[in-house]
Amino acid sequence: MSLTPSHIIQYLYCPRFTYFEYVLSIPQHEEKSFKAMKGREVHDEKLERNKDYLRKRLGVVAKHLDQYLTNDYLRGRVDEVLTLKDDTMAPLDYKFAEYKDRIFETYKTQLYCYAWLIEENFGKTVKKGFLVYVRSKHQVVEVAIEREHVKRVQQAAEQIYHIIGNNYYPKATKSKKRCLSCTYRNICIR
Ligand code: SF4
Repeated sequence: MSLTPSHIIQYLYCPRFTYFEYVLSIPQHEEKSFKAMKGREVHDEKLERNKDYLRKRLGVVAKHLDQYLTNDYLRGRVDEVLTLKDDTMAPLDYKFAEYKDRIFETYKTQLYCYAWLIEENFGKTVKKGFLVYVRSKHQVVEVAIEREHVKRVQQAAEQIYHIIGNNYYPKATKSKKRCLSCTYRNICIR
C-alpha cells in the first residue's frame, strides 16, 4: 500500500480517522465521489488555461505537466512541476475554488506532500509552491514550504504505516471541536 496526500490530510486532522477508515475499513463514501467530480471539472478548466503566462510571472524556466510521482511511502499527481530561476523546483496545483484571503491547511499539506515527492524524484530543493484559484480568475497564490513542513508530512506517513501495520488505536485529536462534525463520532471512544 502507498499513501496519497488525502491519507496524510486525514491523519493530521485526526489520527483516528486513519484507524477507522484503513484498519476497520469503514469508508466515507460521499466525500470521495464529491472530490472525484470536482477533480474532473478542474481538469477541463486547466486544459483551457494552460498558458505560458505563468513562466514570466513566477520566474519559471521550465515546467513538467501532470506528473505522477511516487516514493517509498507516498504517491501523487502534481498538476505542474515548475523549475524556477534559482534552480529550485515548485509544485503548482489548480483549485476549483475562490480565493478568500486564507489558504486551507489541507491545500498547504497537499503542497508539502508534493514537495517531498518532487525533491526525491527530481533531486532539487523545493522552497515554495503555488495554488491557482480557478474561480478567482486563476489567481496565483504563493505558499512557502519550509523543511519542518516536509518533515511533518514524513512523520505523518510513518505514523500511518504504524497504525495500519500494527492495528494501533491512536490518540484522538486534541481539538474536540473536530469531533462534532465527524463521521465516526458514534463509534469513537473518547
Ligand atoms: S470523533 Fe473526534 S477523535 Fe474520534 S475520529 Fe472523529 S475527530 Fe477523531
